[in-house]
This record gives sequence, C-alpha cells and structure tokens, in this order.
Amino acid sequence: ERMISSDVQEEDQTVEYSLRPTSLKQYIGQQKVKENLSIFIEAAKMRNEPLDHVLLYGPPGLGKTTLASIIANELGVQFRSTSGPAIERAGDLAAILSSLEAGDVLFIDEIHRLPRTVEEVLYPAMEDFFLDIVIGSGPSARSVRLDLPPFTLVGATTRAGLLSAPLRDRFGVLSRLEFYQVEDLCSIVERTAEIFAAPIQKDAAIEIARRSRGTPRIANRLLKRVRDISQVKGESEISKETTQQALQMLQVDAAGLDHIDHKLLLNIMDGFNGGPVGLDTIAATIGEESQTIEDVYEPFLLQIGFIQRTPRGRMLTPKAYKHFKREVPKG
Ligand code: ATP
Repeated sequence: ERMISSDVQEEDQTVEYSLRPTSLKQYIGQQKVKENLSIFIEAAKMRNEPLDHVLLYGPPGLGKTTLASIIANELGVQFRSTSGPAIERAGDLAAILSSLEAGDVLFIDEIHRLPRTVEEVLYPAMEDFFLDIVIGSGPSARSVRLDLPPFTLVGATTRAGLLSAPLRDRFGVLSRLEFYQVEDLCSIVERTAEIFAAPIQKDAAIEIARRSRGTPRIANRLLKRVRDISQVKGESEISKETTQQALQMLQVDAAGLDHIDHKLLLNIMDGFNGGPVGLDTIAATIGEESQTIEDVYEPFLLQIGFIQRTPRGRMLTPKAYKHFKREVPKG
C-alpha cells in the first residue's frame, strides 16, 4: 500500500475514531461548507424539523464521515452509518429505515454504489418518509405502504457525477469538500499531536502538512510514522529535521510525491520529452492500468499543476520540471 494513498488503511482504522472532531467548531477548514451547514442545522432546530438531506462529495480522506457524524451531534440526534455496497436488497434498507427514530441521521457512504433497485425504494423514503414494500411474488404479490419517522439522509460520494440524477435531485444540501490548505492541515497535525500527547514543533507540523496532498487522513498517517521515529531518537518534541529524515525514509518527497508519482512523471519527461502522450501509452510503459492512473495517481498531479490534460494526451508543466530541477525542453 502507498504511504500517501488517501484511502483508509488498516493502520488508520486503529486511530481514526479517536481523532474525529465531534463538533463543527473542532472541525478544521472547509469554511464555506461549515458556514452553510451551521445555518441549515440552526434553522432545522428552530423549526423542530429534521434537517434536509445532505450530499457530501469530494476525494477520499477529506472528512466526509467525520462531518456526517458532526451533523448528528450538532442536531442532538442518533447517528447511524452504513454504505452503498452493504445494502444489497430493498429489504436491507427497509430494516435500517424502520429502526430509525424521528430526526435521526442516516449516513450512507459510497452512496453511488447503491444497487438501482434499492435506490428506487429510497426515493419515496427521502421525499415523503414512506416505503413501498412488495410482499410475495407473482400474481399474489401486493404492495404495502410503511410509514417512516422523518430522518435526514447524509450521503457521501467521491464523485457526485456517478450519482443518478433522480437521487441527486432529492438532496436539499449539496456540499463539496475541497483539498485542505497547508495552514489548515498544519492545525490538524497540531491537534492530532496533542491527542497523541506528542509535542511537535511548528515547522515540523508545516513540513508534514506540505507533504500530505491536501488530505487530513494522509497528514495523520505521516504524523504517526514521524512520531515513532522521533520517539526512538529520544526527542522531547518532534523536530523539523527528524520529520524531513523520516519522510525521506518513507519516500515521500517535498511535494508529497512518492516513487510511483516519480515513475509516472519521469516516464513522460524522459520517454516522451514531456508529452503530450496518450494515457494508454503511459500505462503500457510504466506497467499500470490506465484506469488506475486516471483515478488514483493523476488527480493529485493535476491538482498541484504538474500535469495537464490536453486533447492530444498528458503533458508535463514547467512546474514539474522545476520540481526535478530539470530544464524545460524547448518548444
Ligand atoms: P472516506 O471517504 O475515504 O471514508 P472521509 O472523507 O469520510 O474518507 P474521514 O474518515 O471523515 O474521511 O476522515 C479521515 C481522518 O481525517 C479522520 O481521522 C478525521 O479525524 C480526520 N479529519 C478529517 N477532516 C478533519 C478536519 N476538518 N479536522 C480535523 N480532522 C479531520
């Protein structure tokens, strides 16, 4: 597994729960999303009504699950959590929905992966709080209406574009989470260090923040590794020097890139004179699937402006050359 993958890894699971902020106030960054949500939450509480359904979308590891549980906390209701692939049949969904209490928050992670048949059952549940369940089969099948307590659905997806239009339209609040700024990530690192009881110097926290690809999950994971090395060295505070050494050992460079990013960028640089070169050609020459490059490796490289997508293929930018201390080729 890549050290800088934004997906959950086994080692994250042991700490993530304890690191989760529990109120909007503790939730760092994402200012616009927080402002909107706090107004909607306040209004729903004043009207004594459930909050409108909320769709959170954005890359993995930016805090969608955390935010969903904060919404429930702020509303003072129960938080129930499941995921699209875990709900296989309409009956599974019916069981979850009918066990909710009025006002509860139901969180469905990876909501774009709900089976279509389940999705259709969800529409009337979201709109008018009832379920149409078909009992029996063949000519004796009949439909039964089951009333539900009013609830708030919080859906999370990495790509809102993957959601069907009828499902997307049933969310009253759509919030897009953005990659975090270095300052915000730095605050997250400092907060996590405090929870770990591992004092860290400011410039060390900034160093971790800079290499975390805009993603809190990665920042927390890097901090955990750096802390281990600092502890072994007997430091009373995690220093910048140790942080740099540790990250070098972990093969995470100053921009948060690892050996796979390097392989991809250097391949375009040396093999194709900086591009443009087609995705399939890159995939074949570095021995990876085109889909993996597009979904996993490329988004961050596009985000930091090292790669550009052109109609004729991928092209490196002068920024990428600068990172490798190389001359930009003429033309
Ligand atoms: P995925 O979509 O992959 O499940 P996610 O977007 O739901 O990811 P979370 O699991 O909510 O991500 O967050 C990952 C980790 O980052 C958690 O440990 C959480 O505590 C921390 N984190 C996320 N956002 C923030 C934030 N704004 N402030 C402090 N910590 C955060």
